[in-house]
Amino acid sequence: MQKLSVRKARQANVIGQPALLQGWIRTRRDSKGGFSFLELNDGSCLANIQVVADGDLPNYESEIKHLSAGCSVSVRGEIKASGGKGQATELHAAEVTVHGWADPEEFPLQKKRHSMEKLREWAHLRPRTNTFGAVMRVRNRICRSIHDFFQEDGFLYIHTPIITASDCEGAGEMFRVTTIDPENVPRNSEGAVDFEQDFFDRPAYLTVSGQLEGEIYATALGKIYTFGPTFRAENSNTSRHLAEFWMVEPEAAFFELTDNMDLAERFLKRIVADVLTECEEDMQFFHERIDNTVMESLQTIAERQFERLSYTEAIEILINSGEKFEFPIAWGADLQAEHERFLTEKHLKAPVILYNYPAAIKPFYMKVNEGEADDRRTVRAMDVLVPRVGEIIGGSQREDSLDVLTARMEEQGLNPADYWWYLDLRKFGTVPHSGFGLGLERMVQAVTGMANIRDVIPFPRTPGNAEF
Ligand code: ATP
Ligand code: MG
Ligand code: MG
Ligand code: MG
Repeated sequence: MQKLSVRKARQANVIGQPALLQGWIRTRRDSKGGFSFLELNDGSCLANIQVVADGDLPNYESEIKHLSAGCSVSVRGEIKASGGKGQATELHAAEVTVHGWADPEEFPLQKKRHSMEKLREWAHLRPRTNTFGAVMRVRNRICRSIHDFFQEDGFLYIHTPIITASDCEGAGEMFRVTTIDPENVPRNSEGAVDFEQDFFDRPAYLTVSGQLEGEIYATALGKIYTFGPTFRAENSNTSRHLAEFWMVEPEAAFFELTDNMDLAERFLKRIVADVLTECEEDMQFFHERIDNTVMESLQTIAERQFERLSYTEAIEILINSGEKFEFPIAWGADLQAEHERFLTEKHLKAPVILYNYPAAIKPFYMKVNEGEADDRRTVRAMDVLVPRVGEIIGGSQREDSLDVLTARMEEQGLNPADYWWYLDLRKFGTVPHSGFGLGLERMVQAVTGMANIRDVIPFPRTPGNAEF
């Protein structure tokens, strides 16, 4: 007998086939005619399959009539055409085996809907809800599209280290990695803990970005991407920051800022197009149950050419908008979420790429603009902003001049000697090169319409939350 997923078993082309289906009960309904309907879900798709269990099954009275939400079962039977609404097929059970009971007094996921906050307390059970099943299937699809896109475009998947000594963003948001034996804490001459010896006598951190290491490989192999867990000690409680998130970072040699923008736009369009065609049922669910503007905003990403504005133009728009912002904006400041939302949702009603940011608010590695109107005041940074989520991509053309880069490091209080290998890339065959980082969870938020980033990752890591 063939084992079928619910997704396969719901298709009309298997009508008449014997099949084994396995999963978890969502609901049971007993009919007056002495048989029961079981709604069975196995995570392969949003929808359940209806199982028809006849009263003459040997365990009908003893077991089947006691099944409730959360119980796990195997059902052998035959797939038949269904007269029910919204389903082409149903499974007529010849044998129902109960694997595990779920006491209805205790199992929390009964029919009533729980708030997202409540579900976060049950990180181990929430994948059994429609919402989280749909989020994880879409998240999976996005990951697959990320790899497909870069692989088809000739980018090599490179694994950059998770434990590293380089502070890419220079923003002091790093977690330290320690091997210090608490019994034997190293102390400096003043008796204070010597953190410079954390990691086998050297300092080490969890990566905040694989970019610097990615540049090493891009300037040898041409086009690469890294995709992995990224850590930031963000002691903030926003709906779009996590302490542990996933970032995909392409980096390419002989690549200018405009190439980078084109790549970012093509990349986002591809992911959205894939999700719209491959996750139709789940997307319908998000549209109906989570946010009814999500489809429309995805269409704008998929179909409209992204607006491109310099940072300076964006600031002028914000200043002249007449909008009352909580944080007043002026040239030189980084945009806050409210400014990003104004630009994408109210002003342009479309995704936008902002570029040429003030040098003073950007890290040392971004290429300084020289000989233009904003001579040396700006760097070739770019952020892609999308409606509802705001910044989804941050990237730049990298500084390729050894002298300018060294000067920028000194300006920002960094010791060039610590980055000798990074400087070597400019000393030996330097090339214009660029790259960007996309936060996977922000992408999942943009696609699904989920309001809080904690609800698009299996195990959110935020201040005070690392239990399971
Ligand atoms: P923000 O301004 O929102 O704090 P950032 O400018 O600090 O973001 P970058 O260093 O540019 O972020 O990182 C590249 C991308 O990684 C961002 O555009 C975003 O999509 C994602 N990202 C950054 N920080 C986080 C975080 N704490 N949690 C989830 N995603 C993040
Ligand atoms: Mg940040
Ligand atoms: Mg930012
Ligand atoms: Mg950024």
